[in-house]
Amino acid sequence: MIIDMHCDSVLGAFQGNRKLTDRAQVGHFDLPRMQSAGIKIQFFALFPDITASLSPLRQVLILGDYFWEQYEESQEIMQLITSHQSLLQLLDSKKCGALLTVEGGEVLEGDLRMLRVLYRMGGRSLCLTWNHRNEIADGVAEMQTGGGLTLFGREVVREMNKIGMIVDVSHIAEKGFWDVLELCEAPVIASHSNSQAVWDHPRNLTDEQIKGIAQKKGVIGLNFVADFLGEQGSGLDQLLRHIDHICDLVGDDYLGFGSDFDGTDNLLAGIDDVTIYPELISFLKKRNYKDTTIRKICGENCLRVLNAVL
Ligand SMILES: [Zn+2]
Repeated sequence: MIIDMHCDSVLGAFQGNRKLTDRAQVGHFDLPRMQSAGIKIQFFALFPDITASLSPLRQVLILGDYFWEQYEESQEIMQLITSHQSLLQLLDSKKCGALLTVEGGEVLEGDLRMLRVLYRMGGRSLCLTWNHRNEIADGVAEMQTGGGLTLFGREVVREMNKIGMIVDVSHIAEKGFWDVLELCEAPVIASHSNSQAVWDHPRNLTDEQIKGIAQKKGVIGLNFVADFLGEQGSGLDQLLRHIDHICDLVGDDYLGFGSDFDGTDNLLAGIDDVTIYPELISFLKKRNYKDTTIRKICGENCLRVLNAVL
């Protein structure tokens, strides 16, 4: 079972005026490719394109509507996960699963009701910030300010715990990261982040942050984008360096995948699109990763968090 915790394919499909259900010649992801790659659950991020003139909230509502339009046409093959019960139903079926997420807490516009509106739309995870400052906290691009969770940010985390939404700490600046870990009662995810010790990038997690997520029994989704993996060479080799490091540091219970497909054009050789997964699995086997470890990284670790939070 493979779970991928992050893609920007809803935005990609919307902007490219194509359907997620149709095999596309462009982009990195669509449902036919998801099925052939053997992905059981894909997290679909609703990500407001910050260059657009509409407000982030309005963009996310439009993307959510776009997702739902296609979901309603594809319910024979896809199931949206909105509860523990729907997760169990999915695991018992041949369908592929979708978990709707929102990337960037600016969409809440400082209003807790918007969080609940997004929940009612099916959203089950919120990435608290993108790279910039919002009403919740500072993103990694604002690292130098030292700003952590705001009072509103604290309300958001508490409410997410209460209603059963997964708190996502990818993109948040470090002070806010530690505030979240202290406050949040449930396991957290970093849906699409790598190791800073392996590749020094502000979007990647320090060893202390990785240990912090492990202590919360959370999970880190490895990002496949060259900017965060290391900028040269074979994609699978670079991915392996991050997997090796994180497993050495905290063991194999806290790692997963969050490819970030359709969120970038900057992919390394050998990682073309979502159909890479079967090859990635045989690559790990060849590198002597145990079957139990591979199963954990591919999906079981993330499933543990879904079971705990939903
Ligand atoms: Zn992102």
